[in-house]
Amino acid sequence: MTLSKTIQVLLSIFMILLQNNLSAAITSISPKSIIGGIGQIVTLTGTGFGNSQGINYVSFIQESGSYLDAAGSKALKYKSWIDSKIEIEMPFAFSGRVKINIGGIDSYSADTLRVNANLGYRAVNPLDYNFLNNTNGKGGYTWYMHRLYWNDPAIKAAIEAVFKEFRCKTGVNYILANTPSDSSLKLNDNINLIAPDSALGAVGYTDMAWSSCILGGTTFYRSSTMDVRMSTKQNWYFGTGATPAGKSKFRYVLMHELGHSLGLGHVNENGQTMYPSVTLLPSDTWNSRDSITKDEKTAISYFVNLSQNFSFRACGITPISPIGDCNDVYGVKMGVDERIDKTNITLYPNPTNGVIYLKTDVENLDIVNSMGKSISFITLEFEHITEINLIGNPPGIYIMMIKKDNKLLFQKIFVN
Ligand SMILES: [Zn+2]
Repeated sequence: MTLSKTIQVLLSIFMILLQNNLSAAITSISPKSIIGGIGQIVTLTGTGFGNSQGINYVSFIQESGSYLDAAGSKALKYKSWIDSKIEIEMPFAFSGRVKINIGGIDSYSADTLRVNANLGYRAVNPLDYNFLNNTNGKGGYTWYMHRLYWNDPAIKAAIEAVFKEFRCKTGVNYILANTPSDSSLKLNDNINLIAPDSALGAVGYTDMAWSSCILGGTTFYRSSTMDVRMSTKQNWYFGTGATPAGKSKFRYVLMHELGHSLGLGHVNENGQTMYPSVTLLPSDTWNSRDSITKDEKTAISYFVNLSQNFSFRACGITPISPIGDCNDVYGVKMGVDERIDKTNITLYPNPTNGVIYLKTDVENLDIVNSMGKSISFITLEFEHITEINLIGNPPGIYIMMIKKDNKLLFQKIFVN
């Protein structure tokens, strides 16, 4: 090949790359606000993506401030890829422009994709988590307050209120122990503890231990012990609403830390509890709020639902149970054994538009809404199919509570 021929070939390759790059453009993103790590699909439309993925990839900005690298981006779950449209499962990411790499050349969306909450995971394709599980024999996790917190009514009330918030918004089976703890902050004691920490550099911190169990070809990962450390260097305010000048809001920081314990990672969206700063600007401008955001509720509820319904059974692992009265933070109304047992229940259709049919071997049952409020008490005819009519109730998840042989059994009903 002559030199000029070589230059011609190189030039034509360069032109192809250039054309590809010029034509690769993300012109729209849908939805524009999303939650990372829960399998939501983001659709990118535009031009020049190529007819299949090949060596190309889409990337999102990370907490580090850099875009996810090529290997990590190629490992994401692409649902479809055609020249004008890509559908991809939204990974853990920070808000920012979406990057697309075609033939080794980056281009960026004009629009910003806003990530309002992130659920952390072990693996992204398929999504796999450190699941919550029944660690206390009561269907979830028992948290202890350190004695210094237990003995201070303002702190105790603050912790109870934050637990109510998570229980009532997400249905998570977190209860408080009805005795204080003198344990130290270490994870190998199997005690979930909320305690002051004089050595902590941060305002608050969550430590989490996980363990795994292998059955056949499946490795199941679960959160085992968790500790929330609260700095003693803060001038804490234990009340609700706006924080007095010079103080740090205990309830808000605890809400952020318990968010971590429930799988949430940080986001860079103003107004979210999981924004990394919890006491200073900019979170100062929104931390008068005493509730989690709707995005946080969605992400945690998704995780709670997975943790209530996994089928893995080995190493003594069972799912977490739904809760009855969400305000019952000490779990005093709970039965001894609240494991889900569906063996004697025939129920259909589920999800339902309002009418369900049920056959079971108990005489009566109670249907409660997600806030634990009873909406229907039903007497059943033994071994007959009973029609239950929930028409007129708002769509959502309802829990059928059945008492049998001194056990409380739960069955979720999804009303559309
Ligand atoms: Zn944090």
